[in-house]
Amino acid sequence: MELLQKLEILAGAAKYDVSCSSSGGSRTTQRGGFGNSCPAGVCHSFTEDGRCISLLKILLTNVCLYDCAYCANRKSNDVPRATFKVEEVVKLTIEFYKRNYIEGLFLSSGVIKNPDYTMEALLRVAKSLREEHKFGGYIHLKAIPGASQDLITLAGYYADRMSVNIEIPSEPSLKMLAPDKNFESVYSPMNRLRTKILEHKGNLKKRGLKKFVPAGQSTQMIIGASPENDLNIITLAASLYKTQELKRVYYSGYIPVNEDGRLPVISAPPLKRENRLYQADWLMRFYGFSYDEILDKNNPWLDLEFDPKMAWALRHPEFFPIDLDCASYEEILRVPGVGVKSAKFIVHSRKFGKIRLEHLKKMGVALKRAKFFIANPDVPNEWRKLYPEQVRTLL
Ligand code: SF4
Repeated sequence: MELLQKLEILAGAAKYDVSCSSSGGSRTTQRGGFGNSCPAGVCHSFTEDGRCISLLKILLTNVCLYDCAYCANRKSNDVPRATFKVEEVVKLTIEFYKRNYIEGLFLSSGVIKNPDYTMEALLRVAKSLREEHKFGGYIHLKAIPGASQDLITLAGYYADRMSVNIEIPSEPSLKMLAPDKNFESVYSPMNRLRTKILEHKGNLKKRGLKKFVPAGQSTQMIIGASPENDLNIITLAASLYKTQELKRVYYSGYIPVNEDGRLPVISAPPLKRENRLYQADWLMRFYGFSYDEILDKNNPWLDLEFDPKMAWALRHPEFFPIDLDCASYEEILRVPGVGVKSAKFIVHSRKFGKIRLEHLKKMGVALKRAKFFIANPDVPNEWRKLYPEQVRTLL
């Protein structure tokens, strides 16, 4: 098969994996090498539906031993199959990089022969790029569930980021939809990566220490292929951030590619739900919200009408209004329409005088939302006295 044909098949087959956006990895070129990746200036494009496209994003093979219900590459599907040779992936990466098409490689794979065989092939690609060709660009490798710990560890010395996909957010659903997988086969490589990453963080001052997955590990969950609610999903994400030290959890709205009685029938991928989950995830990572503040047993689904911060504010009128002249940074962060950057601006600039509405506008605060939740002499009193239901209607 021609290289171009393989590329068409294996780039197409990789498009459903969203666990690959920029992670701010930093790596400089060695003497005689080429390419580098740096936290600033790394440019990624996203397609209309939010998929990342600036890395060469391919599968090593779309041949797979397994038969996951939700996957286009499952063994029972009659689709064109292809497998790259290690040297072909290396050549494509180098050529594309030199032509400035990409700034790195995202390499995943179906499970061919067995998990170790597959992981070893992925490892050989990364090793050849780094050692033979002195490639300093970004490499994101998939850790194959079930592969040996040693192979996973070795791969970590060549990759900037690694990811093991959980795919389905609960073990019973994973068993039903992907009978060849279980949580143990996912958590085992994740644990290994976490241990080694922490070990490296603790030894950073050692001279000559080789980098180990410097941009951290990530995972992906498919949303809407199984019955878990949003509370189940963000609870799992919060525990992954805490216990596995993940850098990112990616949420991928379920796209029906197979007819299978185990899967729900949907008319369109749940993209809005996916977006709300990203916003909830953002609140947990940057706004100091815990998962059980965002959702609870009585409210297990994210509000599709309002973003999760606004939904929380509407459920907690007792927390507002917030006086921006004396509230803490953490309290200001909870005001709808105020982002991390503007909260920092507010705390900094109030040292020089009272905060006025015109300042907030310049700081990038979305007053359309924030005005109902702040105490400020410029905000008409009646806005602050509105009931949540009235605010809801006005918004
Ligand atoms: S392991 Fe499952 S999800 Fe991965 S390629 Fe094979 S069938 Fe698809």
